[in-house]
Amino acid sequence: MTPSHLLTHNLGFPRIGSNRELKRALESFWKGQSTADSLLHTASQIRIQNWTLQKQAGIQLIPSNDFSLYDQVLDMSCLLGNIPQRFPHTQPTVDLTLYFSIARGATADCCHPQGIAASEMTKWFDTNYHYIVPELSPTTTFKIATSKPFDEFNEALALGIRTKPVLLGPLTYLHLSKSQDPHFDKLSLLPKLLPTYTEILSRLAQLGAEWIQIDEPILVLDLDPTWKNSFPPTYQTIRQSIPNTKILLATYFGDLRDNAPIALSLPIDALHLDLARAPHQLDDLLPSIPANLSLSLGVVDGRNIWRNDYTQSLSLIQRALQSLGPDRLLIAPSCSLLHSPISLRHETKLDPQIKSWLAFAEEKLHEITALAQIATHQAPATLLQENQSILQSRRNHPHTYRPEVRSRLATLRPEDARRHSPFPIRQQHQRAALHLTPFPTTTIGSFPQTPEIRQARLQLKNGQITQEAYNTFIRQKIAECIRIQEDLGIDVLVHGEFERNDMVEYFGELLDGFIFTQNGWVQSYGSRCVKPPIIYGDVHRPHPMTVEWTTYAQSLTSRPVKGMLTGPVTILQWSFVRDDIPRSDTARQIALAIRDEVIDLEKAGIRIIQIDEPAFREGLPLRQADRPHYLQWAIEAFRIASSPVADSTQIHTHMCYSEFNDIIESIGQLDADVISIETSRSNMELLDAFTRYRYPNEIGPGVWDIHSPRVPTVEEMTQLLEKAASLIPPHNLWVNPDCGLKTRNWPEVQASLKNMVTAAHQLRQKHTPTQNSK
Ligand code: GLN
Ligand code: ZN
Repeated sequence: MTPSHLLTHNLGFPRIGSNRELKRALESFWKGQSTADSLLHTASQIRIQNWTLQKQAGIQLIPSNDFSLYDQVLDMSCLLGNIPQRFPHTQPTVDLTLYFSIARGATADCCHPQGIAASEMTKWFDTNYHYIVPELSPTTTFKIATSKPFDEFNEALALGIRTKPVLLGPLTYLHLSKSQDPHFDKLSLLPKLLPTYTEILSRLAQLGAEWIQIDEPILVLDLDPTWKNSFPPTYQTIRQSIPNTKILLATYFGDLRDNAPIALSLPIDALHLDLARAPHQLDDLLPSIPANLSLSLGVVDGRNIWRNDYTQSLSLIQRALQSLGPDRLLIAPSCSLLHSPISLRHETKLDPQIKSWLAFAEEKLHEITALAQIATHQAPATLLQENQSILQSRRNHPHTYRPEVRSRLATLRPEDARRHSPFPIRQQHQRAALHLTPFPTTTIGSFPQTPEIRQARLQLKNGQITQEAYNTFIRQKIAECIRIQEDLGIDVLVHGEFERNDMVEYFGELLDGFIFTQNGWVQSYGSRCVKPPIIYGDVHRPHPMTVEWTTYAQSLTSRPVKGMLTGPVTILQWSFVRDDIPRSDTARQIALAIRDEVIDLEKAGIRIIQIDEPAFREGLPLRQADRPHYLQWAIEAFRIASSPVADSTQIHTHMCYSEFNDIIESIGQLDADVISIETSRSNMELLDAFTRYRYPNEIGPGVWDIHSPRVPTVEEMTQLLEKAASLIPPHNLWVNPDCGLKTRNWPEVQASLKNMVTAAHQLRQKHTPTQNSK
């Protein structure tokens, strides 16, 4: 019997280029240092490289239109001609200037003295990728305005590759869009959108596309019935427009759950399932797959960097094979590979054993081909054996199982995640110990990271200065920073975080269980990339991480200096996390490491410790039903980290967003003594939550927007604080800016802080008339 064959495909490939060529080309174009032609040339080189690579790896259906100069959602808006009114456009097509001005805003000119605000950017589902939010209004119209998917299809065809064009589905497009009027029914635009959408599809079919991939990731969300019910008629229309082209509908980032019956009823040729996030859904769905539908099995995890466990994937593939046969199966990554780094090829410094456990985008392509071949007996048995022995080496590695860490976790008691006394008692102790005035002033931790500081760090890295010289330099910066804060009259000081490159990397480098790549970049938005650490083993803190800097700062002043730590949930959230133990276990391990640091800081005489959790909200699962479980372990992790201190030691936390309404109770359960939150950009919108829920502890809503270089006036800040004081008991209010001082320069920071301190003084006088402000 000739072995049958399984079709392999890919949903999307990273587009930043293997050496971040796109980033460089974009930034030089934006600065006016290179031409549009040269940018477009780089872009084309990257596409050609990506297609060739995928072909060489044996992928049969290779995507096109997955490339983007900035963002694939913005590309869709431009393709559909959905350009926000405020951007001047007279041409029927979208050029580069218009495209980038939607993404990045336009600078002032004679017609627009204020410039034009960019479209909003927001997180793509639960990833760290950010897309440009399409804008809709009742008058929005659609008309094909770019030729991007057609050009890219032809470009690949010229190389001899008949690609599978990828388009964001019409319903996901509308769902992710935003309208100024929150009550506007976005679905009312569907009848206007569909004709343009089907025109795009027909043109792709005419060009010779055999398969088209339509992404509808909203099918893994909780959907209102009106959205669910829109799927069948939409896909009937789509089907009719391209009767002879195969449609692959892609879902990812979760399971279909209650949306499964709808997805299975659609007139499509193949349905893609994310079996990395949700392997269980295969068995649930197999009995009800209609006879004419193929399944695309997303078995290789597109969101993480671990080598695939072939035995696990093959067991899924075998079950599908038995039920559907080889002709109705495709093998793929779980989602677009956009979310993984590009290739291990460029990693020359990783420990070779640990490196063998990893698979970046390029390696994942080979895994897909290998799995398809092994499943149909077309690959040598050694391929599977080799995979198994590598995974075995990971399981047996002493760093992936540290008995002392495991036994500490196993013996954690509920009281380890609880402060000694409830907040009202702690508050009294802290007032007695810290002698703070009402409306105490503080900052969020960092102070300007000047070119001088970055240069010193680089010199240390390159061996141009000694560790000792670097330490002396940092101490000097700390001393200057303390003096400036004292002169400004700030009440609770910080050391300035000059020794930190990044709030997660700094701690990751000092903890066991983390490794760092040289080139493991992943696109965050536009030209911005991040290089997340990899948590590969049990996390453990070999030495104190911040005590020396913090105690040095404290030795220079009689005012309290806050110790600054990054919280366990944020460290977890901004890293690639191991997949061999639950995320919640890794969170607890990190929590114990931070707890040790908290204990050491307290022992060293630090009376206030801030544990930042800016990523706390991002960890929230997409589905409502999954949220309580996450919140439970995330809150626990924070409390394990923050609870070992005396009642008189004050724990602060910080979060940088204002969409709080739905999780405000959970924030309360963190039981930090003080929380500072970013609010100024939303004009204290956050405070709406407090009309419904009485936040029990102290709180510092940010009174100035760090993202703008403008120095806010005393009046502005006083007004914001008055607004806050009308909803929060004044004795629980702190005065602080939003986060991000490190991105500003000293003159702005000093001028703004001076006004902030004055605003606090005015408030003190008004609300505590008997007490003299200092
Ligand atoms: N302490 C950090 C700082 O001030 C907090 C950063 C953040 O919130 N993302 O920079
Ligand atoms: Zn922040």
